[in-house]
Amino acid sequence: MDLYAVYGAGGFGREMMYVARQQLRAQGVSPDQVIFVDDAVKENQLINGQRSMPATDFLALQSVQRHAVLAIANSEIRERLALRCVEHGIKLWSLCAETALIMDGVEIGEGAILAPFVNLTANIRIGKQFHANSYSYVMHDCVIGDFVTFAPGVKCNGNVVIEDHAYIGAGAVIKQGVPGKPRVIGRGAVIGMGAVVTRDVAPGVTVVGNPARPMSVAAKMSSVSASTD
Ligand code: UDP
Repeated sequence: MDLYAVYGAGGFGREMMYVARQQLRAQGVSPDQVIFVDDAVKENQLINGQRSMPATDFLALQSVQRHAVLAIANSEIRERLALRCVEHGIKLWSLCAETALIMDGVEIGEGAILAPFVNLTANIRIGKQFHANSYSYVMHDCVIGDFVTFAPGVKCNGNVVIEDHAYIGAGAVIKQGVPGKPRVIGRGAVIGMGAVVTRDVAPGVTVVGNPARPMSVAAKMSSVSASTD
């Protein structure tokens, strides 16, 4: 009997359990074979009526084929746990909600989670362990790296490159690039909630606002405006 784990019983994991059950039901897998796994769970218990197991127990299980999807928004944790799962012979699994729409020419790496109402349009390349939360979209000709995370409602327009470990906050809009000169969001960059990104974002930089600016500049401007009010 195969066992399917949603690894992470935090906010995102509890949301994605519904998607996991729905996906597996369509494949004829019983809901009893779907469990939460979490390092903070210390004993077998029910979470939202679903069996949950301490991570150490799941990692030690040898008698069944184990699959895990990493439903944790923090990309560094996902990278660490993906390695841990592979070392323990656990297959990395992906989730795609019934309402998610994937169009033509889309390549997507292992471990992805596409939440309800996500839309990936045409000719898109996405690396491993991508999270796209509800109502996010990725338009044509985008290239997305490994361990990239979209909060709900991200609007990623065409010809955008997003490098590994970038985090895009809820409702952010990324302006389209042009063929041969994509807009680039650098490795590990953070785009704040609701930001409107009209320029490239350097690796590791946090931008906020409309038009989006590096956090330090925005913070400085707000303190200047506060002192002149
Ligand atoms: N977690 C885990 N192993 C780790 C780090 C985190 O099992 O090494 C779990 C943590 O116990 C928590 C979940 O991941 O239950 C993260 O949940 P949270 O609500 O903080 O974030 P989100 O669900 O938004 O990713």
